[in-house]
Amino acid sequence: MTYPTQPTASHFIDGAYVEDTTGEVIEVIYPATGEVIARVHAATPAVIEQAITSALRAQKIWSKMSGTERGRVLRRAADIIRERNHDLSVLETYDTGKPYQETSVADATSAADALEYFGGLAGSLTGEHIQLGEDWVYTRREPLGLCVGIGAWNYPTQIACWKGAPALACGNAMIFKPSEMTPLCALKVAEILVEAGAPAGIYNVVQGMGAVGTSLVTDPRVNKVSLTGSVPTGKKVYAAAAAGIKHVTMELGGKSPLVIFDDADLEDAVGGAIMGNFYSSGQVCSNGTRVFVQKGIREAFVARLAERLGNAVIGDPMDPETSFGPLVSARQLEIVQGYIAKGIAEGATLVCGGERLNLPGFWLTPAIFDNVTDDMAIAREEIFGPVLAVLEFEDEDEVIARANDTEFGLAAGVFTNDLKRAHRVIAQLEAGTCFINSYNDAPVEAPFGGVKNSGVGRENSKAAIEHYSQVKTVYVRMGKVEAPF
Ligand code: NAD
Repeated sequence: MTYPTQPTASHFIDGAYVEDTTGEVIEVIYPATGEVIARVHAATPAVIEQAITSALRAQKIWSKMSGTERGRVLRRAADIIRERNHDLSVLETYDTGKPYQETSVADATSAADALEYFGGLAGSLTGEHIQLGEDWVYTRREPLGLCVGIGAWNYPTQIACWKGAPALACGNAMIFKPSEMTPLCALKVAEILVEAGAPAGIYNVVQGMGAVGTSLVTDPRVNKVSLTGSVPTGKKVYAAAAAGIKHVTMELGGKSPLVIFDDADLEDAVGGAIMGNFYSSGQVCSNGTRVFVQKGIREAFVARLAERLGNAVIGDPMDPETSFGPLVSARQLEIVQGYIAKGIAEGATLVCGGERLNLPGFWLTPAIFDNVTDDMAIAREEIFGPVLAVLEFEDEDEVIARANDTEFGLAAGVFTNDLKRAHRVIAQLEAGTCFINSYNDAPVEAPFGGVKNSGVGRENSKAAIEHYSQVKTVYVRMGKVEAPF
C-alpha cells in the first residue's frame, strides 16, 4: 500500500532521516484492514546516543537565538503543516485508523495551532525586575535544556506538537519518542520543523517501545520528561525521572464524569455525550465515560442517545462521510471486548453496540450500557474504547460525591440550564479540565491536564511555559558588602 508523505526511514536525527536496521522491527498496521503499511526499527543505543548528542549541540545554538527568531520558525512550521493538512491527515488516518473526517480537522490542525500559539508567545517570554531599595533582583527565564517527549497512539501529530512547540519556544531541544503503535506522523513534524528553519537536531524523533523511553528518561543529560500515556506507565516514568530530579509533565488516563441534570437541553446533552465517548472511537483520554443522568430524564436520554448512535457512519476511514473508525489494534479491540463482556456479566444492560464487525481490521460498534452501578469494572476502570456507561442519580450532592469517587481526575462535564448550579458543581468536581454544556473542547489557549492520578503539569496555554522553562534569580548589590568578619 502506498500513501502520501510516507517517511523514508525510522528515525529523524540531526536534520535527516536515519536508519539502523539492527533495531527491533516494529510493524505499522493500518487498523481498518489489519495490513502492514510500514516497518520501522526501534532505536539502538547508538541511535539514541546520536539523538542526544545532536540535540545538545542544537540546543546551544537555538537557546542563543531571540524568542522572536525561534517563534518565526515555529510559525512557519505551522503554515507548512496547514498547507499540507490533507496529506498529513491521510497519514494520520493510516497511522491510527481514525476517520479522515476527524483527522482533517483535529490532528495536523491542532499541531499547527500549538506551533502558531507558542511561536507567538516565544518573543514575549521575560523575567522580572524586583527593586529592593538601591539593590535589585532580576530574573531570567531560561530553558530547561534537553526535553524528552513520549507519546500515546491516539493523537500522534498533536502530541508531538503539544510537547514540541512549548519546549522549542522556551529554547529547549526535544527528543520525541512516538508510541510504537503510531510511529509515522511525528517524523513528518520533525521534517517540517527543519524545512521551516529549525537547526538540525533541535527536534529529533526516535522509535521504540518502553525500553527506548526508559533509556531516554534515565539519561543524566535529559532535564525534562513529558509523557502522554496510561497511569501505570506514568508511575514508572515519574519514578525514573525522580531518580534524576528531572522536571516532568504527566498527561495520563482518566474515567471522567459527565453529569447531566434534568433541566439540561436534552439534544445538547446527547451531543456532549457523543463527543465525550465516541470521537476517535472512544480512544480519548479526557472522555466522559461515566455519564451520570438525573432520574427524571434518564430514559429519554438513553433512548435519544441510542437513536443518534444509529446515525454513525462506520466504514472506510478514508471516505469523508465516515464518522466512526476502527480501534487502533487487535490488542485494544480485545481489551474493549473484555470490558463489554464484563459489563454484561456484572449485570449492566447493553442497550446497543459492542459488536465485532465482520471486517478485516479492528472494528467494534459504539456501545451504551445502562443501569451501571459505581462498583462495576466498566464504571471504575479506563476502557479507552467506545463504551459509554449510564449511571442514574437523584440529587446534586450525591452525584458530586459519586463523580469524585475515583483515582482519576482528568476531566469533568456538567449539562444544566441552571447557571448557579453549573458553576457550583464544577467547582466541586476533582478534575483538571472541565466543561459546562460542552465536552472535549481543547483549544491551545486553554490549560489542559489532570489532577489525582491523571497527571502532573499542564499542556497548552501560558501554563505550559512554566513547565518548559525555569527562573534564574540574580541579586544585584549597589552598595558595599557587609560581612561579620
Ligand atoms: P502507554 O502508557 O501504554 O504508552 C505510552 C507511551 O509510553 C508509549 O510511547 C510507550 O512506548 C511508552 N512507554 C511505555 N512504558 C514505558 C517506560 N517504562 N518508560 C518510558 N516510556 C514507556 O499508553 P498508550 O496505550 O499508548 O495510550 C493510552 C493511554 O494514554 C490511556 O491511558 C490514555 O488515557 C492516555 N492518554 C492521556 C492523554 C492526556 O493528555 N492525559 C492523552 C492521550 C492518551
